[in-house]
Amino acid sequence: MNIILLGAPGAGKGTQAEKICEFLNIPTISTGNIIRAALKNGTEMGLKAKSYMDAGQLVPDDVVIGIIKERLAESDCQNGFILDGFPRTIPQAEALDNMGVEINKVIDIEVADENIVKRMSGRRVCEKCGASYHLEYKKPDKEGICNLCTGTLVQRKDDHPDTVLSRLKVYHEETEPLKDYYAKQGKLTIVEGQEEVADTTALVFKALED
Ligand code: AMP
Repeated sequence: MNIILLGAPGAGKGTQAEKICEFLNIPTISTGNIIRAALKNGTEMGLKAKSYMDAGQLVPDDVVIGIIKERLAESDCQNGFILDGFPRTIPQAEALDNMGVEINKVIDIEVADENIVKRMSGRRVCEKCGASYHLEYKKPDKEGICNLCTGTLVQRKDDHPDTVLSRLKVYHEETEPLKDYYAKQGKLTIVEGQEEVADTTALVFKALED
């Protein structure tokens, strides 16, 4: 099954992607993670993307479309995949359609803006492996240390409150129209992003069964 997870930054797409990945054994493709890895490795693409990312803006469509084209051609995507953070604009969705990639389900996780700001200010990520934690909702076993690889947990620059507000503005202007785009294709299910992760997961899994 080929799945797209939509929703504002911080709506919990990454967490739900992990659950689906475990259940269906298909890879999660996060353009944000791919760009952050490129940046860490000092590649040209990573450096080009840095200024956009730090400002909470979208990286140009041609860059992310190129990333996705390459990634979807890899063999582990043949039995399905979960897209987390792509597409984020109508031209990106059109490019995906033009690649001849059949999308089966689009699940939009809805969370109110004020909750997004609260969630993102508490988010911490492992600087080594990228695993995500939260100061209140998903604490690591040992404060400041990743459970998976013992890397240090840090706050992403683009999770700072000012940048979060820019990212939300960009989300409403550029990404939200995708709900209509996929509703017209009959692929969209809207799921309420609940307080408890497990409750959202139950709704997401139900959407996959329908
Ligand atoms: P994320 O981790 O998905 O929130 O992505 C972090 C940042 O990477 C975004 O704020 C953008 O600057 C960039 N990015 C990730 N995916 C995309 C995309 N599909 N289109 C444009 N920019 C993206």
